[in-house]
Amino acid sequence: MTQPLAPGKTLGILGGGQLGRLIAEAAKGLGYRTAALDGSIHSPALQVVDLPIIGPVDDAVAAMKLAEASDLVTLEWELIPVKILENVAKARPTFPEPSVLGLIQDRLIQRNFLARHGFPQTAYGEADTALGWNYPVIIKRRTYGYDGKGQCRLMKESDAPKAAEVLKAPCVWEKFVDFKAEISVILARGRGGEIAAYPVAENVHRGGILHSTLAPARIPKDVAANAVALATKIAHALGHVGVMAVEMFLLHDESLLVNEIAPRVHNSGHYTLGACATSQFEQHVRAVCGLPLGSTAQTAPAVMINLLGDLWAKREPRWSVVEAIPGAKLHLYGKPDARPGRKMGHYVVVGPGAAAEFERADARLAAMSA
Ligand code: AMP
Repeated sequence: MTQPLAPGKTLGILGGGQLGRLIAEAAKGLGYRTAALDGSIHSPALQVVDLPIIGPVDDAVAAMKLAEASDLVTLEWELIPVKILENVAKARPTFPEPSVLGLIQDRLIQRNFLARHGFPQTAYGEADTALGWNYPVIIKRRTYGYDGKGQCRLMKESDAPKAAEVLKAPCVWEKFVDFKAEISVILARGRGGEIAAYPVAENVHRGGILHSTLAPARIPKDVAANAVALATKIAHALGHVGVMAVEMFLLHDESLLVNEIAPRVHNSGHYTLGACATSQFEQHVRAVCGLPLGSTAQTAPAVMINLLGDLWAKREPRWSVVEAIPGAKLHLYGKPDARPGRKMGHYVVVGPGAAAEFERADARLAAMSA
């Protein structure tokens, strides 16, 4: 059994995005030194870690360099090739373990994993031929599709040519789900299998990208309990260690379907930083380092609104709009260039006005960029 990581030791993070940055800041708060690997010194995490390591995240030599500089390794990106992670895990304790990523990275393998365990999900199949698709469908790339990229919606068979571009890489088809709401469960699973789940989050996506999150979700208590129970079973079945997210569709009959598993801290859990006793980032560090998990108690309702690069189209957004919202906190990730669809930051509003801010998000964003 791997010993808990002692304060003063170095936690290495594979990946240098905003998730890595927020993990690193939490790790520092617990007394750890931090290292992170990414292709650019200007990446969000490399700006804040003690030991920035520059190199491709999916490169075996660069990943070993990170491992050698660290006492324990974790990740903020689930697409690190399993072989590379296996080598890292031979050199240093690594959580989550490579086998978890092996079950997640490829959408077809992930769906087959869910099916094997009888977890509820939409009808799906391998999209290697156009046969057997259960329209309306979404065609999704099996790997390297995220934030709605590498996806295509087809209402009927005659729409199939629209999928030609996406289908240049191996894909799955998924039956389109007519959902009432999208929710996610963020939870941590410790090394000993202990679970700490956060209040269920309610999510709005636009163009496949998370737009905003309200927590707790406006759903009945028993539905929230079912969602947490389902995510807990998935975490145990995966043998995951660390924070993970399970995105789900809530159907009109209040039943749940799993959309996607993310074996890492998640954008829909950003609200926990400010709204919960232990943020998802601190919780992740606690779980992978073998510390006791912290309380997930939420102090007040919270909303999180993503700030995409589109906001910068004309000039720097008017931050006074966020600053004037009672209980609002702005997080910017330090990304040097704002591109459309790129996650540049977010703001969280904690307090009784959260649900109203959730509804007002578009008006706020419009005021920021006006
Ligand atoms: P994903 O990258 O799979 O999380 O998909 C991004 C977003 O697309 C989801 O959050 C949903 O809003 C939508 N979506 C994905 N799959 C489906 C589906 N099978 N049915 C309906 N909407 C979907």
